[in-house]
Amino acid sequence: MVKWLVVAQDLLFPLSCTICSLATSAPGSALCADCLEDVRLISSPLCTVCGLGMRNSTAGDHLCGSCLRKRPPFHSARAVAHYQEPVSTLLHNLKYQGDMSVLPALQAVVDLLPGMSIGEDDRIIPVPLHVRRLRARGFNQAKLLAELFFPENKNQILLDCLERSKHTEPQTKLDGVARRKNLRSAFAVHKAEQIKERTVFLVDDVLTTGTTVAECSKVLLAAGAGSVKVLTVARVVIGA
Ligand SMILES: [Zn+2]
Ligand SMILES: [Zn+2]
Repeated sequence: MVKWLVVAQDLLFPLSCTICSLATSAPGSALCADCLEDVRLISSPLCTVCGLGMRNSTAGDHLCGSCLRKRPPFHSARAVAHYQEPVSTLLHNLKYQGDMSVLPALQAVVDLLPGMSIGEDDRIIPVPLHVRRLRARGFNQAKLLAELFFPENKNQILLDCLERSKHTEPQTKLDGVARRKNLRSAFAVHKAEQIKERTVFLVDDVLTTGTTVAECSKVLLAAGAGSVKVLTVARVVIGA
């Protein structure tokens, strides 16, 4: 085979697993079968609103206790997998080390989410970073993940609509009340006509308490969005 063709093939079809470096059996897959099997999917039965996986439930999808008490502002939230190995490492390396080589492996994870459908009138909004953090990091991981979720609809991604107007402390350091207070009026909507009466897919890397996506959803809905559907790669289940 001519040399450039070999190089191109290696780029297109990684031959070793991103996590364990073992050879991948399936050509084109960035994760080997074992590492892909380690991805703990969040599957039915789920809460129909927040997407929480229900344990020990023989019933189908239904509202969880928390959503029953107080409905979140978004229409639904779905996460592909639990925030644990190997997904946690992939997301961490992307976010904090700027390691773009994990993107094909994250694509393999994202592709495990069944039933993703988007209409051409729908819009996609990655949870924004404050401009100061964006400059320091050089990229918004949520935007890269939005492209993995919707490879055919990249032109529906809006980057100038939702702004993180307040530089806030990292949410991970705070408890529930402080999280909400920290994020109060942290987001602003511009060019609201872009989302008027439309379904907005709001994309982030990890869902923890949901405070951030709830706050984003509130401002998007207040600005006229028809509904907000949250999508994350992973979910941290509190107390699990
Ligand atoms: Zn592997
Ligand atoms: Zn719920």
